[in-house]
Amino acid sequence: MKKIATAAAIIAAAVLAVFIILDAATPKYNFDFFAMNTYVSGEVEGGKSDDIPQEVESIIGTLDTKILSRTAEGSFVYNLNKNGEAVPDAEVAAYFSLLAEVCRQSGGAFDFTLGAVSDLWNFGGTPSIPDSAELADALSHSGYEKISVADGKITLTDKSAVVDFGASGKGIALDSVKSFLDAQGAKRAVISVGGSVLLCGDGKFTVGIKNPFGGADYAARLTVNECCVSTSGSYEQYFEESGKRYHHILDPQTGYPAESGVISATVISESGLLSDALSTACFVLGIEKGFDLADEFGATVIFVTEGGEIHCKDGAEIKIDLDSEGFTLVTH
Ligand code: AMP
Ligand code: MG
Repeated sequence: MKKIATAAAIIAAAVLAVFIILDAATPKYNFDFFAMNTYVSGEVEGGKSDDIPQEVESIIGTLDTKILSRTAEGSFVYNLNKNGEAVPDAEVAAYFSLLAEVCRQSGGAFDFTLGAVSDLWNFGGTPSIPDSAELADALSHSGYEKISVADGKITLTDKSAVVDFGASGKGIALDSVKSFLDAQGAKRAVISVGGSVLLCGDGKFTVGIKNPFGGADYAARLTVNECCVSTSGSYEQYFEESGKRYHHILDPQTGYPAESGVISATVISESGLLSDALSTACFVLGIEKGFDLADEFGATVIFVTEGGEIHCKDGAEIKIDLDSEGFTLVTH
């Protein structure tokens, strides 16, 4: 029997935010919309423009359709996949070089050329276990080392490689929105794009890590300063067949869903791109290697395991409060 995760589970980015009280004249906006195949929600206080919600929607929509989307005809990534090469502007070149760094440092656990493999699993549609020969063929055309950035051009050295920003695009969107909100002089904002959240402004924020076993509660609450927080969880998109769960975060070595003993990896970083990419990478790597990878990028990672343990590094500058029964905190 197949069971597909509900939209509600996908949306469950699990964000709580504590807003400071600003004077009554400070404009406040609450908004939500659908973009990048996910739900976006925002709360913003302050800012010069009267059209902040519309502008945030336009920034994320444009980033997707002009640059990151694999399916929007004419986007940068669409053209790169179609033609095997494309000329990036400085911003896009920077995304590629930072993501290539995450690919390298993670030993390939994060791989942004895994598009053909993800397509076979089809988690965005009706997912199923791929034919093993097709999977092996798609895997043979993936590998981050097949992307070359030289002479102002990005080239796929294997024309069948398929670049996919599915694991980092939502974080990149947060970085773009943050630049906009800073320029606006916004005082405080919480913007959630799927499982990635931007917390922006002075003072503390409280963010919930979703209880991966279901129910409305959070597994834990984190108290953090301004940052981006991304969670990759095997409960977000999955199906079950013959009693086994198959989820959407793939191990690039096998082409199958990663089995590292964790149910979710939550990464906190100043950079949305890094929080998003590293949460996927840390999920694939599991606890010990994931801690090392996060350290390399000055980020913090918190894991929830299948046994209900919440693993974090001792001395992490983030306050963690357990929020539900059945979880235990394990510090390293
Ligand atoms: P996230 O929810 O951010 O962890 O991203 C998961 C999405 O990234 C999947 O739906 C795939 O499109 C893609 N993906 C899956 N596995 C990987 C991987 N190991 N490295 C990079 N992208 C991946
Ligand atoms: Mg990610």
